[in-house]
Amino acid sequence: MTVTDSDTWTGQRVREADREYVIHSWSVQGALDPIPVAGGAGSWFWDYEGRKYLDFQSQLVNLNLGHQHPRLVEAIRQQAEQLCYIGPGFAERSRAELAEMLAELTPGDLKMTFFTTGGAAANENAIRLARHVTGRQKVIARYRSYHGATNGAISLTGDPRRWSAEPGMPGVVRMLDPYTYRCPAGHPDPCPVCTGGPHLEEILRYENPDTVAAVIIEPVTGTNGLIYPPDGYLRSLREVCDRYGIMLIFDEVMAGFGRTGTWFACDHWDVVPDIVTTAKGLNSGYVPLGAMTVSSRISDWLKDNMFWGGLTYAGHPLACASGVASLKIMQDEHVVENAKAMGERLGAGLARLAEQHPSIGEIRGRGLFYGVELVKDRESREPLVPFNAKGPAAAPVGRLLKAAMERGLYLTANFNVLRLTPPLVIRDSEIDLALDVLDDVLKLADEQYVG
Ligand code: PLP
Repeated sequence: MTVTDSDTWTGQRVREADREYVIHSWSVQGALDPIPVAGGAGSWFWDYEGRKYLDFQSQLVNLNLGHQHPRLVEAIRQQAEQLCYIGPGFAERSRAELAEMLAELTPGDLKMTFFTTGGAAANENAIRLARHVTGRQKVIARYRSYHGATNGAISLTGDPRRWSAEPGMPGVVRMLDPYTYRCPAGHPDPCPVCTGGPHLEEILRYENPDTVAAVIIEPVTGTNGLIYPPDGYLRSLREVCDRYGIMLIFDEVMAGFGRTGTWFACDHWDVVPDIVTTAKGLNSGYVPLGAMTVSSRISDWLKDNMFWGGLTYAGHPLACASGVASLKIMQDEHVVENAKAMGERLGAGLARLAEQHPSIGEIRGRGLFYGVELVKDRESREPLVPFNAKGPAAAPVGRLLKAAMERGLYLTANFNVLRLTPPLVIRDSEIDLALDVLDDVLKLADEQYVG
């Protein structure tokens, strides 16, 4: 092997090596041509030719503090100088400090934390622990959900990425989603699905509640279309879970840490789970990190019972130090407050766009966690592209995303729902810039409007 001089790594050289040797997630490799990225700062990243892109995705909705936050980079550097790694069996400052901070920041009596390397592993551990604590096997999860790509987590996941992993983990039972705009139950009044408890209770009747260990949901659905539950939904699920001794697990991997304008999405409704799983915004993804934080009751249980879980990198010092720094930055720089204020600006701007663009069917959001549902007809609500659209069927949205990228705005979509999830440190002028580009590219969606 010849060692390549780093100076020869032009954008073209990166692109060629990437195409030849890197396997990218969830893709047919030959269909890809990823942009070689040279750097980033704040809400922006750029390529080797110096073209800049406003990151209205926060990458995988994880880069909450934006690219290259200087304090966060410095905290990782300092930890690297002090201690890069120590096994999970030792007590270590950054690990202990982050766990203590999480006990304070997470809602209710959530207390002890097991650190993982990401969201999927946090969910795997949550499910396994719920099974051990309850002595039951089944887990109820929803269709419009993503919980990660490992065997258990992808089995919990409802979205079509699950299909390739099936039959997967046994014991998963599916529940419908409180998707009021497209209610799977036809949204009678009152609606059992959108109320939550009645639908869950009916499923429990058929499954036998004594066999159900946990219900796992994203309190606000992220990847699968930015779906906000109606007021009362989470409380209704909480009551049913309490009635039958079932653990309620909130997957706040995407919605946690300020994304919705509160520290946790469930804070909007004051409902506390038995277990919360987090990752992404916990440290803005600068080093892989996830966490499972459990109630005092489970913490007490763990004092006398075995915790059957472990990872070489559980509580990795570099990751935990970046978590500690991240949470301190969020507090010092009022990041959650900024997310709320910028979200209001974004929401108001989107409402103005809806007056101009008939293809906007519904706008859903709080903080900087917005979905814009694109339709062909507001009356029938026919989606601009169908569920699980691929190839030519997905083209109307694909064209819009490409046009935005050409104008320097990086966006993604879940089929017909645009995801607007910029870094929580974004500024007024950047929100306005994105709205201008959206105004422009939404004309492409309007061209498909038939209503
Ligand atoms: N849970 C939710 C809600 C997510 O959005 C994701 C990732 O997008 C995961 C779990 C999986 O996290 P990871 O990719 O870190 O394993």
